[in-house]
Amino acid sequence: MLIDSHCHLDRIDLSGFDGDMDRLMAAATEAGVEHMLCVCIDMNNFQAVRDLAGRYAQVSCSVGVHPSAREGLEPDEEALAAMAADPEVVAIGETGLDYHYNEGDLTWQRERFRVHVRAARAVGKPLIIHTRDARADTLAILREEGARDVGGVLHCFTEDWDTARAGLDLGFHVSFSGIVTFRNADALREVARRVPADRLLIETDAPYLAPAPFRGKMNHPALVRHVAECVAGVRGESLETLAAVTAQNYRRLFNPCT
Ligand SMILES: [Zn+2]
Ligand SMILES: [Zn+2]
Repeated sequence: MLIDSHCHLDRIDLSGFDGDMDRLMAAATEAGVEHMLCVCIDMNNFQAVRDLAGRYAQVSCSVGVHPSAREGLEPDEEALAAMAADPEVVAIGETGLDYHYNEGDLTWQRERFRVHVRAARAVGKPLIIHTRDARADTLAILREEGARDVGGVLHCFTEDWDTARAGLDLGFHVSFSGIVTFRNADALREVARRVPADRLLIETDAPYLAPAPFRGKMNHPALVRHVAECVAGVRGESLETLAAVTAQNYRRLFNPCT
């Protein structure tokens, strides 16, 4: 059974499922996806992801404000911690740094990231980290704010082995999305081969980044199977082994009490 460790269910265009989230869930179940983590990107969308987690037993959610989000309230540590106390909320994020889509003085982005790490430490829940063109600052803030105490995941990983290694040294997991299936992603596949089995996760990041052979199409959790097949292939493992290992890692990281 597979787990999609990172998706945005509330942002998926359901027209391919007759407008019905139940059908999307049925497609996921049919593909062997037993659980999914629906990730919050701003304070306005928290209620939507929380509602999905309440409605479907196979869905959990997070709370956080994406580093590129410009809509909605700027979160403070107390507000995030209060929302994260909800048992359906299993993580803080997605948070981190994105210097690719943002320019100018990004002090606000680094401060927002620090607020998330502090909230995660306050509630003892793991972090979902988004990092793009900002690897050194991301790692520095994780170190400075003591993120090791809660751990988490470097999601949709696209960096090099040294960055993965630094994240692993901080106790973090590394999650691969459909990007790992892309034809030009040999270097990333090599990173996926080297990540220790007990730190590996897989995700769709749906509706973005559909894996090959669906690249450019709308992504959804059932397609995490293609990410799993690719990662299993480069590691010389069976799909079953890869699925079991990543599901176990997910449960250890996000459901520490069950
Ligand atoms: Zn992200
Ligand atoms: Zn995401």
